Amino acid sequence: MPLVKLCPNCEHRNLASQTACQVCGTLLEHANAFDAPDLVAPKIIVNQRTLNLPLQVELIIGRTDTHGDWKPDIDLTPFGGTAAAGVSRRHARLIWHGHWQIEDLGSANGTWLNRQRLQSGESLDLTAGSIIQIGKLYLIYHG
Ligand SMILES: [Zn+2]
Repeated sequence: MPLVKLCPNCEHRNLASQTACQVCGTLLEHANAFDAPDLVAPKIIVNQRTLNLPLQVELIIGRTDTHGDWKPDIDLTPFGGTAAAGVSRRHARLIWHGHWQIEDLGSANGTWLNRQRLQSGESLDLTAGSIIQIGKLYLIYHG
């Protein structure tokens, strides 16, 4: 069972083996490690393509910025996920709690799960066949 550490600064869920937060660089020496049940990468399909995702307890969904100095874990840019299509740079995230959940990150245009808009701070469970709408794009969660 992998241990994770919550960053005290930005609340990013880092693997416990990391000494500094992957997002903001804050040192994690005083962060408490806790169990996260056996991590499995989510199977996400966009435009009939299955994404190859890293094994992480948190995956940010969004788009690259125009300068190319930000790239989310699930980058929708190659699928037409632009600002004009309603996709924010940090739009939503998948979080591992022993199963995958989705949370909106205060995106400009919102995140929908099975046609239901996520409220601020709300995390909803993904189940096989869940449809996630990010701007004009649809992502299918296949478990
Ligand atoms: Zn951090």
